[in-house]
Amino acid sequence: MNIKEVHNCYGCGVCATACARNVIEIKLNNEGFYEPYISDESKCTDCGLCTEVCAYLHDDLSLKDVGRQSYAAWSNDKLVRRRCSSGGVGFEVGSLLLNRGYKVCGVRYNADNNRAEHYIASDIRELVQSAGSKYIQSYTVDGFKAINRKEKYLVTGTPCQIDSFRRYIQKFRCEENFVLLDFFCHGVPSMHVWQKYIKWAEKKVGKITYASWRNKRNGWHDSWAMGLGGEMHGTSVDWHDSYNLLVKGERGFFNSQMSKGDMFYGFFLSDCCLGKQCYDNCKYKYKNSSADIRIGDLWGKTYKDNKDGVSAVVTFTPKGNELLKQCNCELVEHPFDVVAEFQMKACAKRSRHFNVVLNSLLNPQKDIKDAYKYVKRDFLRKRWNRRFRKILRILKISK
Ligand SMILES: Cc1cc2nc3c(=O)[nH]c(=O)nc-3n(C[C@H](O)[C@H](O)[C@H](O)COP(=O)(O)OP(=O)(O)OC[C@H]3O[C@@H](n4cnc5c(N)ncnc54)[C@H](O)[C@@H]3O)c2cc1C
Repeated sequence: MNIKEVHNCYGCGVCATACARNVIEIKLNNEGFYEPYISDESKCTDCGLCTEVCAYLHDDLSLKDVGRQSYAAWSNDKLVRRRCSSGGVGFEVGSLLLNRGYKVCGVRYNADNNRAEHYIASDIRELVQSAGSKYIQSYTVDGFKAINRKEKYLVTGTPCQIDSFRRYIQKFRCEENFVLLDFFCHGVPSMHVWQKYIKWAEKKVGKITYASWRNKRNGWHDSWAMGLGGEMHGTSVDWHDSYNLLVKGERGFFNSQMSKGDMFYGFFLSDCCLGKQCYDNCKYKYKNSSADIRIGDLWGKTYKDNKDGVSAVVTFTPKGNELLKQCNCELVEHPFDVVAEFQMKACAKRSRHFNVVLNSLLNPQKDIKDAYKYVKRDFLRKRWNRRFRKILRILKISK
């Protein structure tokens, strides 16, 4: 078996990185997710490396016997904290390791290709591009292939990318050269959403030059976990909203907030357009990781009044824990369930509008607003369900 029989996988690109014959390409499939293709089958020697490093084809995780320590954390540098998505821990781990002679393989937004991509940062100026979450699937191959296994690297990515990457460095017996960092991951949306969003945005501001998904102009707060997500349409609540997409173009810029009906976030967080693998086969929720360090947003009750950003951080190896302690970060140790409050414990549930949304996104005649009507319906349905459950609870209590 080689990777050509694998479809709707994680699209992590590690098979293409590992292939010594260079015959695996990673391209977007029809539904807008990265997938491997064999470009020249006659050159494949059936060595099996591509399937060996593939996390999608294994039930277990590549990191065994994990310990676990969990923290609330934030950068001591105010600018870093402001620029990053939550507390800036991802950036601070990178900065520490750069000072120790590592390079960082992180994710930047490439406005020329309208995509997120892994790249290598060799100094702090280059590292800045990796700050902040880009809520689209990243194209890993060029970044991963640029890694020299004999040198030291921090590699960051989604949990599935990191699980495959650990398999790869285990296979080549160079695990000690690497520190791996992932995050609590909701899932990745189809690239068709982002491509249509960009088309819509370009009508407003011209060719897009920059995008920041988690701009802190309106502070840092989770309207989603606090339940505002279901109330977002037509609301006039002025809520601190962490899901604030800042888009700059050649003719200007705009900020678009989740709580005021931003379409991209509507698609992403309503679970109408995630990858099939995110719904059916994500092994990495909550406590499950193959990284040394996991980061996320600490949305729980403990820090609910914080307006600057707090990262949830979990270390799974002694190496990860030691490094975290040496970062330029404030750390407060908490039990895991405090740090991971509101994080997903299971795969996202496919919305009943998944097919109709995807078909609309695939139709070149239709713009993003057409597919978005179904997302709105989904939100309304969820809002009514929530209200209904609340009424039932009240009735039960008053009996
Ligand atoms: C698709 C996606 C889904 C997420 N889902 C959740 C969730 O459900 N719950 C939660 O708490 N947090 C989630 N996060 C993580 C969260 O958005 C923040 O990254 C996290 O709070 C850490 O913030 P920070 O300030 O410490 O990180 P920063 O210092 O800003 O570092 C961000 C790191 O993420 C990496 N990165 C950015 N975009 C991508 C990408 N597209 N693919 C791979 N790596 C990337 C960068 O290379 C960098 O290392 C998600 C992130 C992404 C990209």
